[in-house]
Formats: sequence, structure tokens, C-alpha cells
Amino acid sequence: MPQKSNKFIELSSRSTGKKRTFRGDLNIPDDILADISSKGKKYGIDTIKPFSVDDFVLAEWVGLKCRYGCSQFGTNWSCPPATPDISQAKAIMEEYSLALLLIGSQKCTNFYLNNSKKRSEQVRYWKGTVSLERQLFLHGYDKAFSLVSGSCALCRECAYPEACHFPTEKRPTIESLAVDVIGTLKKLGINTRVAHDPKDLFKYYAVILVI
Ligand code: SF4
Repeated sequence: MPQKSNKFIELSSRSTGKKRTFRGDLNIPDDILADISSKGKKYGIDTIKPFSVDDFVLAEWVGLKCRYGCSQFGTNWSCPPATPDISQAKAIMEEYSLALLLIGSQKCTNFYLNNSKKRSEQVRYWKGTVSLERQLFLHGYDKAFSLVSGSCALCRECAYPEACHFPTEKRPTIESLAVDVIGTLKKLGINTRVAHDPKDLFKYYAVILVI
């Protein structure tokens, strides 16, 4: 089915090659985007799209889904209640204007199994997202910050509530900041659907808040 018109930001300007802070400049030069896109592919991130932070859909009900029905609630540093509450999430979003949507895909035939293959895929996407955040920082985007997909699986079992074993890699999940991921994708004109069969192609979505 053809996608509706989307709201991604078209980029056209070239960078001067100098490192600088782009606060207030709602743009990421093509060459920097190409650089992080090429690095992202090494981690299975196929597509990176800039979009306006105004297009995030935030909702209180997302927290209900975390609190009731998710085994990660209160057991992982990347999930509630260890993460910002909705009023803090809104305040954080107001400090940004531009974000990047990261999209990867995989066949997840081990979806219902808690095995090492599934965990290694989760860790690969996680490390890829945090690595791209670092690249952006080095390019001068000092506010760059990742919101990752799925609870942190860097350790076989999260140390929560004891101190995190890898605090420099620790990031909150997108949903933990009250983001309605499917609602946001729809607003961006992306058709997505919940996979019904482990043989289906699963999509991985993460975000980096940039400017
Ligand atoms: S790095 Fe380990 S301890 Fe820290 S949030 Fe991730 S799983 Fe938990």
C-alpha cells in the first residue's frame, strides 16, 4: 500500500567540514547524515530520517502499558519507574526541535524465546544507536541523546536497583518517555503494523534527540 505524504525533513545543505554546534539550525548537513547512515548499517540500522520533535505523540496511557503488563517495570534501569515521568518527558522534549528516527528490521523467529541470539540482536541495535549518538556528539551536536527500543539487555540480568554495570551505555526506552511509538509513526506518515507471526519481518525503531 503506498505511504501517505510524510513529514520528514528534506536536507540539502552541505557542511563546511568544521565541527560546530548546530543549536537553532534545524538541519543536519547531508554529509553528516550520510556518515552516520553508513555507520548505522553496520549495526543493522537501514534507514535514518530527521523529523520535527513536534511530531512526537506523548500520552499518559503509555505509562499504563509499562506499569501493568510489562515484566520489565521496576526491574530495569531503562524502564519506569527509573526513567523520567511524563511531566519531565514533556519538559525534555521542549528542549529539542529535531530528532532522528532510526529504523532496522529483522526476522525474529526467536521472539518468544529468551535466548542468546535474541539478546545479541537487541544488544547490536542498542550499541548501534548509542554509537550514532556519539558520532553526532563528535560532529558538534552536543545535546544528542538516544531513546532506545526495548529494555536494556546489555547484561543478562539488569542490576536494578543496584548500580548499573554500564552506566555510559545506559539509555531510556522510547516508551519510558511516554512516547506513543505507533501514534508517532502514523503522524510521520509511516505505515506500520504489529507483527502477528515470528516469521514476519519485525521493525526496530529508535530515536536520537539531536537539536
Ligand atoms: S547495562 Fe546492565 S545494569 Fe545497566 S541498565 Fe543495562 S542491563 Fe541494567
